[in-house]
Amino acid sequence: MDKAVVLNVKNLNISFQVNQKKVNAVRDVNFQLYKGDVLGIVGESGSGKSITSLSIMGLLSNKDKDSEIIFRSKNLIKATEKEMRKVRGNQISMIFQEPMTSLNPLFTVGQQLLEAVKLHTHLKKREAINLCVNVLESVGLGRAEALMKEYPHQLSGGMRQRVMIAMAMICKPEILIADEPTTALDVTIQSQILSLMRELNSANGTSIIFITHDLGVVAEICNRVIVMYAGQIVEEGPVRTIFREPQHPYTIGLLKSLPDTRHRDERLYAIPGMIAKPGSIKAGCQFAPRCEFVTDKCRAIAPQLLPTDIANHQVRCFESNRVKEVITVV
Ligand code: ADP
Ligand code: MG
Repeated sequence: MDKAVVLNVKNLNISFQVNQKKVNAVRDVNFQLYKGDVLGIVGESGSGKSITSLSIMGLLSNKDKDSEIIFRSKNLIKATEKEMRKVRGNQISMIFQEPMTSLNPLFTVGQQLLEAVKLHTHLKKREAINLCVNVLESVGLGRAEALMKEYPHQLSGGMRQRVMIAMAMICKPEILIADEPTTALDVTIQSQILSLMRELNSANGTSIIFITHDLGVVAEICNRVIVMYAGQIVEEGPVRTIFREPQHPYTIGLLKSLPDTRHRDERLYAIPGMIAKPGSIKAGCQFAPRCEFVTDKCRAIAPQLLPTDIANHQVRCFESNRVKEVITVV
């Protein structure tokens, strides 16, 4: 049976005015998030991952009237701030890379959790406290009652990120958006947080959008992957396809830069060149200047995102057949 679509992003475009010029930072992004899925969005810094997630949360003011973000049959792009406040934290939650910037240093953990509960439920004080304690325990934080009275600076980075996850999960959201939630943490803590998120996903059926620049993290937690480059989706597919049969040269570059994969070079690989600034490449494929498969056609015409012969797999590249052959030989 097909899974239900919980979020449908259609034709998302986000632009900024920079020096009186309109700069398109996200272009024609289309994707669906399915019930219970963990969807990874991966790409180098500057590829448009964060502004995509901020626009889902209704936190960007520059809204494109032709873009649609359909959630529970409503277009969130057209929702009022009042309507979005009901959605945020309650139906769609978000956690960020640096929990210290999202937690208020002046309030205790308990005060901040209780505030979130008060905003979205009608629970009495004692019930609300019990809920907070339960949620803190469910994210693996012991001595939860004592923790409620502590301030964010008294906690380690990993504990703060667990508190953030507790806060995001307290109203059992349908969707959790995690923007680089483990990037600031060391490797051991990172893998603990990832397994916590996997547990929450399978226990509550929460659909997760997991944003990261690290394909290694994607392999640990996601079942579907969107690869973004310079504001566009360049490849999308099941995690197995992205790792075993990638067809976009950029995806292959990301895979080659991973330590310890079957695509590994002798030295640790880095994709040559820098990510294109939005609007800097006027014609052709955005990845062309960095691409080892580039042809004259790529420099002249922008490729479309098209289905391949693999199920649920799409790629934006004219040379994907040639890319595919090379990568299976590696
Ligand atoms: P990522 O999260 O993938 O690192 P972002 O979504 O933060 O990337 O940014 C994507 C692009 O949008 C970047 O090139 C950035 O320069 C541009 N951008 C983001 N926010 C703004 C802004 N407020 N004004 C102008 N450009 C912006
Ligand atoms: Mg970002």
